[in-house]
Amino acid sequence: MTAQREWVDLRSDTVTRPTEAMRLAMQQASVGDDVYGEDPTVRQLETTLARMTGKQAALFMPSGTQSNLVALLTHCGRGDEYIAAQDAHTYRYEGGGAAVLGGIQPQPVPARPEGGMDLAAAAAAIKPDDFHFARTRLLCIENTTHGQVLPLEYMQAAYSLAQNHDLALHLDGARLFNAAVALDLPVRQLTEPVDTVSICLSKGLGAPVGSVLLGSAQFIERARRWRKVTGGGLRQSGLLAAAGLHALEHHVARLAEDHQRARQLADALEQLGYPVQRTPTNMVFLDGSSVDADRLQSSLAQSGVRLDADEPEHLRLVTHLDVDDEDLEQVIQAFRTARP
Ligand SMILES: *Cc1c(COP(=O)(O)O)cnc(C)c1O
Repeated sequence: MTAQREWVDLRSDTVTRPTEAMRLAMQQASVGDDVYGEDPTVRQLETTLARMTGKQAALFMPSGTQSNLVALLTHCGRGDEYIAAQDAHTYRYEGGGAAVLGGIQPQPVPARPEGGMDLAAAAAAIKPDDFHFARTRLLCIENTTHGQVLPLEYMQAAYSLAQNHDLALHLDGARLFNAAVALDLPVRQLTEPVDTVSICLSKGLGAPVGSVLLGSAQFIERARRWRKVTGGGLRQSGLLAAAGLHALEHHVARLAEDHQRARQLADALEQLGYPVQRTPTNMVFLDGSSVDADRLQSSLAQSGVRLDADEPEHLRLVTHLDVDDEDLEQVIQAFRTARP
């Protein structure tokens, strides 16, 4: 093929392709039937992440959506509810799975501009023990959230709130390693004040597939049943777990590079006069109300650059493993050309 265009794809950090070294690790993985609990590589991934997060047990799943769903199904039953921010992934971007499949009612509460739900609003939304109401069981937070980092103090405050009301606390940590790297904290400090956490291997960490749910041994045993029920019991999934293990070893510290490039991108776009909204991690947003999104998108496409315009009020640019310094230059040049 001639002149195949290489996109610089900033839509999401999910678009990364496995590196040669990762493919090699996958090829060499020892495998067994994981539904029988006999896949050594899946087990190794689960124990590795359990150790890193200070949790007793872990469960490998195909996707973050499934991992969060299994967490909700395990924490809550029919007629129970969980509280989450209005813009939380578990509430807004997972097809309402907990309600659809579990009879679990979501109770969304306002999000703060700096990310996360307003905890006073969450406290006010907790229902009294009265048969008129759904039973509030769970608080669900997200870190990072739209690229924003929830500081440790916020997470501890959420945990106290949950404990004071006999609720469990689940952390949707799809990009938790981005938060840990941005805060320069070991990940286990961020998982200490939560009961359960879901972590994606297929976002910034660059694995092709996979998420892991972590919690107490008893919780994970109950979650194993829901994973099977939701069709997530895989067989020789060590092939996939090997990619995750490789990512944990080689792709965590380098997330700092993604954050640095996002900062450089934000600086350059600001200089060019774009309405930039920064985050401390790998996402940069443009205020869609003050740019012509369609025009910008098609001009960038001419220069081989893609961004995410699913939510036209916030155009999103995400740096990741497959965006190097040269790509960044191409992106900045593309925005220079696209200026009205
Ligand atoms: C991507 C994401 C998920 C779900 O992950 P999938 O693997 O795409 O299903 C959950 N929560 C957050 C915050 C995410 O960004």
